[in-house]
Amino acid sequence: MNINVSGKKVLVRVDFNVPLDKELNITDDTRIQRALPTINKLLAEGAAVILMSHLGRPQKKLNEDGTINVKKFTLRNIAPHLATLLNRPVQFAEDCIGENAKTKAASLLSGEVLLLENTRFHKGESKGDIAMAQSLASLADIYVNDAFGTAHRAHASTSVIAQYFDQSNKQFGLLMQSEITNADKVLHNPQKPLVAITGGAKVSDKLLLLEKLIDFADTVIIGGGMAYTFFKAQGGEIGNSICEEDKVDLALDLLELAKKKNTQLLLPVDNVAADDFSPTANSQIVDSMSIPNGWEGLDIGPESIDLFSKAIATAQTIIWNGPMGVFEFDKFAIGTNAIAQAVAGATSKGAFSLIGGGDSVSAIKKNGLADQVSFVSTGGGAMLEYLEGKELPGIKAIKS
Ligand code: AMP
Repeated sequence: MNINVSGKKVLVRVDFNVPLDKELNITDDTRIQRALPTINKLLAEGAAVILMSHLGRPQKKLNEDGTINVKKFTLRNIAPHLATLLNRPVQFAEDCIGENAKTKAASLLSGEVLLLENTRFHKGESKGDIAMAQSLASLADIYVNDAFGTAHRAHASTSVIAQYFDQSNKQFGLLMQSEITNADKVLHNPQKPLVAITGGAKVSDKLLLLEKLIDFADTVIIGGGMAYTFFKAQGGEIGNSICEEDKVDLALDLLELAKKKNTQLLLPVDNVAADDFSPTANSQIVDSMSIPNGWEGLDIGPESIDLFSKAIATAQTIIWNGPMGVFEFDKFAIGTNAIAQAVAGATSKGAFSLIGGGDSVSAIKKNGLADQVSFVSTGGGAMLEYLEGKELPGIKAIKS
């Protein structure tokens, strides 16, 4: 960040979309913590800082009478914790646009912080509404986008707004910049060998990512629910395991592509099969190609853990996106936990490791290893799309 912000009003799009419990307490403040360096830098340099974010999906969870559930989705829920972290008062505007926001923004002084109400209280946010973007832009001299988690959305506050600022008055925040730098480190000229670990429920969600990874990684590991579509495609018996029948051909295409590109593609050789989708289900270790009727694979087995861990240990660069099994159930988290350990182990020996958002981040955190990997992304969908090679609207808008 290199714009002179002293005495200026700076509007920062942050991603404060943090999880809240039923009592509306923040259960994980990582996203707020990761935005602090940008906010503190701007304040130290004499800016008046206006913060805007979305929180949840208020338009999709309206009250019965069709109104917004303000109590649940208000950013007021975030303000006290933010004030504690910033060690200064945080003013609040009940609407992100309109007279109240305008008046409060206009009277905001250097070193002061104003938090605007949830941008998604307006339908125009997700629609990329021009009038809303213009209205937000009118609050400040400078626009900073630090919300990597929503950079894949062409929304009013993340992308459309940027056109109302000159090139010299808009820029990335420190978090956004480091997300981009770390992802680019993997995508462009990574140290080889590059081992990519993929998992999660569905092949369809990760199809583009898999194609891209097969193209440029040395080894691609496929674990989690996705793997069963591959077993099925190769004529395996998968019992009740999760499978996308309509993606069987695509799975075969990906296996073929890996051969063509000379990329090692590793699938689990054994699995932990359960007799029910439940944390207390009975389980047994079974061969990947012969999962008994009535049983479903919910985790990778010990031989697969060994196979994958050895591959990970050879890596100089690692990308991890997606769990190896239903890691929400402790009994079926063993494979995912072991992979988290293997990634941390390789990192301690000098590999660069990028944890690509979403459930892999939860797994790394659950294992207390967040500070033993190189970079933990704050973006699930955004990181996925960035790694797929897409230009994210939030990034493009600042550059152009
Ligand atoms: P994704 O959001 O695509 O990364 O998928 C994450 C979800 O995949 C997690 O909630 C896991 O519980 C789920 N998952 C992983 N492995 C399996 C499996 N073998 N069977 C069913 N669900 C799975």
